[in-house]
Amino acid sequence: MNAQLKPGQIGEFKLLIGGKLVPGAAGTVDVINPATEKVVAACPRADVAQANQAVAAAKAAFPAWAAKPIAERRALLMKLADAIDARVQELAPLLTQEQGKPLGGAFFELMVASANIRGIAAHDLPPVVLKDDAQSKVVRVRSPLGVVAAITPWNFPVIMMVTKLAPALLAGNTIVVKPAPTTPLTSLRVGELCAEIFPAGVVNVIADANDLGGVLTSHPDVAKIAFTGSTATGRKVMASAAPTLKRLTLELGGNDAAIVLDDVNPQEIAPKLFFAAMVNSGQVCLAAKRIFVPEKIYDAVCAELAKIASAAKVGNGLEEGVEFGPLQNRMQYEKVKAIIDDARAQGKVIAGGEPHAGPGYFIKPTIVSGLPDGARLVCEEQFGPVMPVLKYKTLDEAIARANASEYGLGATVWSASNERAMDVAMKLETGTVWINKHLDLPPDVPYGGTKQSGYGVELGQQGVEEFTQVKIINQAKG
Ligand code: NAD
Repeated sequence: MNAQLKPGQIGEFKLLIGGKLVPGAAGTVDVINPATEKVVAACPRADVAQANQAVAAAKAAFPAWAAKPIAERRALLMKLADAIDARVQELAPLLTQEQGKPLGGAFFELMVASANIRGIAAHDLPPVVLKDDAQSKVVRVRSPLGVVAAITPWNFPVIMMVTKLAPALLAGNTIVVKPAPTTPLTSLRVGELCAEIFPAGVVNVIADANDLGGVLTSHPDVAKIAFTGSTATGRKVMASAAPTLKRLTLELGGNDAAIVLDDVNPQEIAPKLFFAAMVNSGQVCLAAKRIFVPEKIYDAVCAELAKIASAAKVGNGLEEGVEFGPLQNRMQYEKVKAIIDDARAQGKVIAGGEPHAGPGYFIKPTIVSGLPDGARLVCEEQFGPVMPVLKYKTLDEAIARANASEYGLGATVWSASNERAMDVAMKLETGTVWINKHLDLPPDVPYGGTKQSGYGVELGQQGVEEFTQVKIINQAKG
């Protein structure tokens, strides 16, 4: 891995196919720094033949990898976690330059990535005796599936990659990873680390121009697809998996509600709500995307949020003190700007929202009050630093409005009363509900979406088991 790099140097990038670091047969794709709109690096672009070679390499490596004791596979995953930690000073600025997030956020992402690898690898898949009587002994084992295709989005490229790679490999599968075309660089570096650690073909990493996802999801030799991305693409993935009945984990979009109860202090709650909505410039599947506040404290909460938003420091993530980077790509930038225009026409922009002059896809944290539930900012997933604060009269009304969504990923409830908060939590139709906290995602706790937010879970014991097939061995006695 480019060991000779001096600080500030970017170096070259290669695909990892069958244990070899190779150039892209389809040329290169420029990766753009969203803070400057300048090219960070030319990323190798795989062609269809290379995507097929990657699957073939993973298939060839599968039997030997699956036959290894789980402790050996775990030990190699631990080496990968150590290798990421050892390279963090080089990886974090690269992640900031391709993704846009502030350097502190990039270090945090890499720390969570290595912690997730260790936490996931700590799980085990022991055989379970279901029955042992005079007639028979029945044992349930979990066997690996084969080749996994991991397809990831651009908001947390490294966390998304390793959170699929670690359970897949621990369970004995091999993998082909395909990152998003606007953030492939740090994933390719992690691929280089994998090349030094795992047997050839166990991990393959290819990059594309948004054109190879379908090749992987329809490939007859891919047994499982672990996908994180938009609901629209998730539907295509599911359709493309149908002919060969592939196993699926789909982590898709969300429009998470934050329900604030009337017993909170507006000054204390506002910074927590602000963080829940704006972290990673709002580009988080589980960000709070609709904030429901009771009439009694509505004006006070809005005023506090506007104060915090106006003081936020937005800029190039490599600069000291920057709290919020740009949107990751031009398409998302234009989409969020259009959502703000619609919100301005239907509600009141009380902080941010002004156009940005000069290079970079910057949008200041924006707070909008007084919107109807039909506004785009309320019913669509904004995936940006724009927060609608919605007034409610009764708690039942807030819960009904929160549940009136095709999505059901996460939610937060904020209250001084655990009992009241728990009652609301039980009524929300989402995969996760946090009470008086947000984004706590330890590697031993599963998360996943209901409704059109997804299919299956990641993390936790269940997240590892999603990469296995239940197999029953039923033996006669006597
Ligand atoms: P996207 O759906 O556009 O792309 C995701 C990945 O799918 C990329 O690697 C892309 O190249 C690939 N892809 C594109 N077309 C494909 C096809 N036909 N078949 C297979 N793969 C294809 O999503 P995005 O814009 O990169 O990410 C933002 C979305 O991801 C948001 O909706 C967000 O909520 C969601 N997300 C969800 C979670 C979660 O855990 N639920 C986490 C992060 C992001």
